[in-house]
Amino acid sequence: MDLEDVVLEAESDTQGLFDDLLSGEPIFENKEVLRPSYTPHELPHRTDQINQMATILVSALRGETPSNILIYGKTGTGKTASAKFVSQELESTSQKYDVPCEVEYINCEVTDTQYRVLAQLANKFIEKNERVIADRLDTYRELHSNALEDPNVLDRTEFSTAEAVASRIAELEADAEDMEEVPMTGWPTDRVYSTFFDAVDYHERVVVIMLDEIDKLVEKSGDDTLYNLSRMNSELTNSRISIMGISNDLKFTDFLDPRVKSSLGEEEIVFPPYDANQLRDILQHRADISFKPDALTDDVIPLCAAFAAQEHGDARRALDLLRTAGELAERSQAETVSEEHVRQAQDKIELDRVVEVVRTLPTQSKIVLFAVILLEKNGVHNINTGEVFNIYKRLCEEIDADVLTQRRVTDLISELDMLGIVNAVVVSKGRYGRTKEMGLSVPVEETEAVLLSDSRLGDIENAQPFVQARFDN
Ligand code: ADP
Ligand code: MG
Repeated sequence: MDLEDVVLEAESDTQGLFDDLLSGEPIFENKEVLRPSYTPHELPHRTDQINQMATILVSALRGETPSNILIYGKTGTGKTASAKFVSQELESTSQKYDVPCEVEYINCEVTDTQYRVLAQLANKFIEKNERVIADRLDTYRELHSNALEDPNVLDRTEFSTAEAVASRIAELEADAEDMEEVPMTGWPTDRVYSTFFDAVDYHERVVVIMLDEIDKLVEKSGDDTLYNLSRMNSELTNSRISIMGISNDLKFTDFLDPRVKSSLGEEEIVFPPYDANQLRDILQHRADISFKPDALTDDVIPLCAAFAAQEHGDARRALDLLRTAGELAERSQAETVSEEHVRQAQDKIELDRVVEVVRTLPTQSKIVLFAVILLEKNGVHNINTGEVFNIYKRLCEEIDADVLTQRRVTDLISELDMLGIVNAVVVSKGRYGRTKEMGLSVPVEETEAVLLSDSRLGDIENAQPFVQARFDN
């Protein structure tokens, strides 16, 4: 057999590493549709909220300033998806009728200081202005060169001479020159603000600024940004702005200056949690385009909906469950997604949450939690605060950490309790007073692994002696 035959045979007979996986894919048609980044074109059960937004924002298409809007609702109630949907519709309608109306969307969880919000807005408007200037320059340059050959082309324009056109061109070139982008740090805030102000006011338009996760901005940097934005209209000459704030936290306006609060909350729209039936509809719509026909057994969608309804009606959780269940089915090479995959998905998502919470705990809390784990692994039940404190102290000494008082450690235990990591109850010991008894609410092995991946706790090589010492105390 010569080499060529070998190669040919290899091509025809053997399946490549990915061939099997590709051809034997009975589950997903398009997984992207189930990811959070996908913006659905249809939003069942949000028609009321979307219509309310549209009714307010339609003023922008008439050249009037829409009222400011505040949108409230828990996570996963469709606020971002609805707002983005409305903004796309608004912009496409404004293009259709050629009215100058623009929407800017900012996620304040990412862009979380006044400087960054204003800089991002300024730069977006500068970019748009530059495009407007470039278009106008094209038009005027052509007009100018035509006018040099035949002055009659100016008859039905605002210009009487070719020189007038030339001087307008020079003006526009100077404007373009002046548009200086705001650097991501370094300027004084008032300079950033005035750059933004000039950029918005460069020509006539109505601007809707959507500030998503606005509560994060206020929490991190106070309400100065909102104060400045909400009083801009009285100073703008050519343009008008309208603010749409979106908040997960229903009480965030409590922290606002009363003037900001009343200006921002001219209109309020509430996004209530979805119930299990609504979640079913939402999932069904997505499942129809994301899964192969017949890939889901009948109970999959109702079960995902029921689990997510318990999580305060969170559609994001429902979609995560459905996608994860599909991935688990795919990985186990099942033909269909079944109820069992949904239950596994629920456990996996819950574990991922725990891992993330534990990973981001402060070191002191990690040491306290590690003490609880060591006791639990040694078969101690109804662990009390004193026992935790003794082990905690020795662990601290071992890794050279500060030793907190037993009182502070008790507080840290309460925090772990609130996070759902331990389950603590106060028990009365009669005349010996009261103590807390606790157990771990999360899987031991996984939690321990996360703790030991912390560089400081990872130094504890053999923890067994500390637990033994408990019996010597
Ligand atoms: P919020 O901003 O309120 O936290 P999102 O708008 O991000 O919630 O929604 C979370 C996820 O659920 C997104 O993937 C979104 O596409 C989806 N979603 C929410 N509501 C609906 C709905 N009514 N129809 C279809 N998908 C929805
Ligand atoms: Mg959102």
